[in-house]
Amino acid sequence: MARVDLAWRHKGACNGLDPTVFFPDSEEDSAEAKAICAECPVRVTCLEHALMSRERDGIWGGTTEKERRRILRHRGKSA
Ligand code: SF4
Repeated sequence: MARVDLAWRHKGACNGLDPTVFFPDSEEDSAEAKAICAECPVRVTCLEHALMSRERDGIWGGTTEKERRRILRHRGKSA
């Protein structure tokens, strides 16, 4: 089984922050997490990880689950 390198997580702007911020009750409550992600040095890596592993919950790479589904749909069409 391939080893997944998650070392980038330690460089994330969310490292050490309250994880509940990144798992808001609704899409509308995601602004705080998105603002943190916007300043994150590993945002692209985080987003790709979430897309590849089909993360269903939470804010990853500045996106909500709904937004990630949209990206995957778009990529599927353009592939
Ligand atoms: S992009 Fe957001 S969720 Fe991902 S590591 Fe950075 S701060 Fe954390």
